[in-house]
Amino acid sequence: MWLHSLTIGRARVTSLTDGSFGLDGGAMFGVVPKVLWSKVAEADDQNRVRLRINPLLIQLDGKNVLVETGMWDRGGEKFESMFALERDETVFSGLRAMGLEPSDIDLVINTHLHFDHAGRNVDAQGKPTFARASYLVQAQELYDAYHAHERSRGSYYVDEYIEPVERAGLFERVEGEAEILPGLRVLPAPGHNLGQQAVILESEGQTLVYTADLLPSFAHAPYPYVMGYDLYPVTCLEKRKELFPRWAEAAAVIAPPHDPRHAFGRFEPNPKGGYRLRALPR
Ligand SMILES: [Zn+2]
Repeated sequence: MWLHSLTIGRARVTSLTDGSFGLDGGAMFGVVPKVLWSKVAEADDQNRVRLRINPLLIQLDGKNVLVETGMWDRGGEKFESMFALERDETVFSGLRAMGLEPSDIDLVINTHLHFDHAGRNVDAQGKPTFARASYLVQAQELYDAYHAHERSRGSYYVDEYIEPVERAGLFERVEGEAEILPGLRVLPAPGHNLGQQAVILESEGQTLVYTADLLPSFAHAPYPYVMGYDLYPVTCLEKRKELFPRWAEAAAVIAPPHDPRHAFGRFEPNPKGGYRLRALPR
């Protein structure tokens, strides 16, 4: 089982998983050539690298906060095979193993609204999955999902898992950095797109960061390992150079959304410059 829990000050934090998928290795590593990225990620016969979808549960002061809801599961056969979806575990099986049902979630944080992050905002009946929760999202991201262009449209299925939440009045729009609960805040992390946000938990001197796609996996720790999928790659690079040193300095626990093997790590200096991530033992 994927579940990996740890304590950050007053909070209990658990990495969940919603299965895995395959994305084109070239697109995952942008300008980095395959001779280099193939040392850190293995490609299948169609050049896809395997990534997990790893939402995070934060239990703080009696509240259950779910960061990301998981992978859209109503895409049909063509979608499933294009992304080589495997659902060995789901966000629901993980919650259940913790004794929780979707109705126990008090707050959802959507880092952004791409189908591999927010796809389970809505259930199989087309209703908001976490009916008791508000869904926190940057106003910019909601706007951009509704005004997608040729380069971004493939990442959103607005009618499927965004509009039903909007119609139910469950989206809570934030603009910029915002404190959600004492010690828990969202921080704009643009680059992958404009309205992406990271989640920062600070409690009793300990820090945890859910990076969203600013840092998709451990393999993406070197600064130039920026995805071809990013709409604003140089913004992404600048944001990484601003935030990674800060998070390294704080010895923050780092939780990337897509690592196929590890839930949590910490930055350590890379002898070649920048940082690499060392996994925390289970
Ligand atoms: Zn993603």
